[in-house]
Amino acid sequence: MDYVFPPTAPPSLAVLGQSARFPLRRIFCVGRNYAEHAREMGHDPDREPPFFFTKPADALVVSGATIPYPPQTEDLHFEAELVVAIGKGGADIAVDRALDHVFGYAAGNDLTRRDLQAAAKAARRPWDMAKGFDRSAVVGAIHPGQAVPQGVIRCIVAGATRQEADLSTMIWPVADVIAYLSSLVRLEAGDLIMTGTPAGVGALQRGETCVVEIEGLSPATVTIA
Ligand code: MN
Repeated sequence: MDYVFPPTAPPSLAVLGQSARFPLRRIFCVGRNYAEHAREMGHDPDREPPFFFTKPADALVVSGATIPYPPQTEDLHFEAELVVAIGKGGADIAVDRALDHVFGYAAGNDLTRRDLQAAAKAARRPWDMAKGFDRSAVVGAIHPGQAVPQGVIRCIVAGATRQEADLSTMIWPVADVIAYLSSLVRLEAGDLIMTGTPAGVGALQRGETCVVEIEGLSPATVTIA
């Protein structure tokens, strides 16, 4: 194939125990997948099922990076999330076969320009610029395996624990998320799904380091310059 300029290589993530990397295709995100977080954002979790939004693959930040404070915001927020890495594509995947499509799992941070999100919500406009901005998807190394991680997810900012929840309190478990998302779009190998954040989201300040920890996984760490 001849291109008018060289195509960009895909962003990629380290895979635990392997030298080969996971090539990133798309990043899907679940909104409101923990009841307490839905309530803190002013919604009734019993009446509103989770929904999806996306970030470009280019938004990936590899764990350990230092990033500039993003432009056009004064309210950058952290959101600790379990990330599912898809290894086998499929559409209309059944819940009981959904985990067959998983390559592995990682810790992640769905960085959000909360002020732009609030303005978009008020104007009934899309969230893209609130959620899908440059360097908005922090993801740790992928741990291969299909069994869903269990235990505590935690977000630590400047040494203080700001979010802490058990992964079992997700409204929609991983298999349900994969099955439902695959009814909307065909999933492909290389896709990531950020599965939503528990309660306790808040602002990140310049100079702070934010660590997302999930039991059994490598942390997702980012420092704001
Ligand atoms: Mn999120």
